[in-house]
Amino acid sequence: MHPITLFLQKNLFYLLLAVLALNLFQRRYQKASERKRLATLYLAMLVLAWMILVIVVVAFHWPDWLLIPFTLAVASVGVIFRRHTFPFRLRCARCGGSLDSKRILFYDSNACERCDPQQEPPPRL
Ligand SMILES: [Zn+2]
Repeated sequence: MHPITLFLQKNLFYLLLAVLALNLFQRRYQKASERKRLATLYLAMLVLAWMILVIVVVAFHWPDWLLIPFTLAVASVGVIFRRHTFPFRLRCARCGGSLDSKRILFYDSNACERCDPQQEPPPRL
């Protein structure tokens, strides 16, 4: 097995956990981040599909080059449905200013505080 294949086999699980943890943090912003919460779920499904493909290639001792078309297939599904899988923007949709990480990850409006003054969720007790 190629070292890249083994690296993917060992570490894709942690990428999946990170995406799912982000999804759990987004639950705090229920009303403001419905689209982005769904997007992280779709991304988690794509990572899971990629993980399963890597595990199948390793388990059945298939040639490593098969991971290239499999990975491209998973990535192209993400690109084709990018309106649903990647709604994150780095710049404000209205004024073009840069957004902070909270606005990028948790607010569907993709607008800065000045353009879209939404309340923060109450602190958890
Ligand atoms: Zn703005």
